[in-house]
Amino acid sequence: MKVSERPFQALAREALADSQLRRNLGHATATIRKKRAAAVSELPDWEELREAGAAIKERTLRHLDEYLVRLEESVTKAGGEVHWARDAREANRIVAGIAKGHGAREVVKVKSIATDEIRLNDHLEKEGIEAVETDLAELIIQLAGEESSHILVPAIHKNRAEIRELFREKLGAKDLSDDPRDLTETARRYLRERFLAAKVGISGANFAVAETGTICVVESEGNGRMCTTLPEVLVTVMGIEKVVPTWRDLEVFMQLLPRSSTAERMNPYTSFWSGTSSGEGPREFHLVLLDNGRTQALSDPKGRQALRCIRCSACLNVCPVYERVGGHSYGSVYPGPIGAILTPQLTGLGRKGPDSLPYASSLCGACYEVCPVKINIPEVLIHLRGRVVRNRQDSGSPAAKLDPEGAAMRTLARTFADRRLYEAAQKLARAGQWPLARGGRIRRLPGPLSGWTAVRDLEAVPRKTFREWWRRERG
Ligand code: SF4
Repeated sequence: MKVSERPFQALAREALADSQLRRNLGHATATIRKKRAAAVSELPDWEELREAGAAIKERTLRHLDEYLVRLEESVTKAGGEVHWARDAREANRIVAGIAKGHGAREVVKVKSIATDEIRLNDHLEKEGIEAVETDLAELIIQLAGEESSHILVPAIHKNRAEIRELFREKLGAKDLSDDPRDLTETARRYLRERFLAAKVGISGANFAVAETGTICVVESEGNGRMCTTLPEVLVTVMGIEKVVPTWRDLEVFMQLLPRSSTAERMNPYTSFWSGTSSGEGPREFHLVLLDNGRTQALSDPKGRQALRCIRCSACLNVCPVYERVGGHSYGSVYPGPIGAILTPQLTGLGRKGPDSLPYASSLCGACYEVCPVKINIPEVLIHLRGRVVRNRQDSGSPAAKLDPEGAAMRTLARTFADRRLYEAAQKLARAGQWPLARGGRIRRLPGPLSGWTAVRDLEAVPRKTFREWWRRERG
């Protein structure tokens, strides 16, 4: 999985300089936020649904091996073929092999973050196969040669005028206005030809039902249905965590997902297919089950809850950090709060980019409040920060030893562990704080410590501690 080697802080600083980006993002996220809150408030049992969603995902993750084997059996029985891919290289090789085996020079795709994660389009291009994105927003960023900046609305950072210019230039649509209907119609005409010409369709999966081997894709434009029914061959690439045991389980997610993502009671298009059937749809169906770091994430008892994610993007839309810096600052296909906990777990820690992501948050907790499967994102962020710090300390490098924050924390740990040392430190601090403390608070610390008080007040050491009072009163 490709992840930026540059830290989030550096990328975010650059993004903050783009005021147009901030305006586009602020407008879009505020609108989605408001709509989502209204859609969710219509359901009196929303909290119970969230509980159920979280419980189903947790149980499935605990027995993932069994459910995946059951899924493989069901898909095979329904006439499909299952491929297991350990990493991006294997998955890309499998998909390209299938496309080449059918002589395809062009494939149509319906939005799949899993294929973005493995950079399938780049690989296909190297093999001489053009991959056409058919989701409108995906098409926009593909034509612009950019990366997605939102899970659900990949072109959220672009406004209508920018899209019109892009279509004029890339699709030759000269007399185009920036009316959304005109823009959509232009894309539709272009895509219709691609759908009819393509022999191979590639999709992602929102869910896969183990008991029947049924794959489910939810979308809003109908392009997914064209992709999964018109071509002769259909290839679905899905992360192994997308499996759900039964249709009863799916029922819960079909209520949670549309309201959380697009604020709709029900999404316009939901496609289900199980293997192949005679007389309609693709003649061949392949399911690629992608690991790519997921079993590694599964081995972390606290971090593994990130694998519950149903990619609704609600956490992005409420995140004050995402709203200001946009998705590209996270340096991976998974932006926002979920990206900050998922990317470092999938890629592993130990590099500047992934190590910086757990710090890309103010820990306000808004993401946890909206998450339909109750992923405690702040908890995982803090857990991952701990892992980053421990890794650094364990590396034993001179930089780790000289790190002022690390040295201060080591001193504090020693002080807190020794009562006498702690009491001596209190006395010292009490004597030294007099020029800084006013009314029981320290509002500004000097020198490098000023960073701590820049955004918070510090309690002054009291004139008498509880232990001193106790000793005096009770001897
Ligand atoms: S972490 Fe939760 S809120 Fe964020 S995209 Fe995943 S399911 Fe949605």
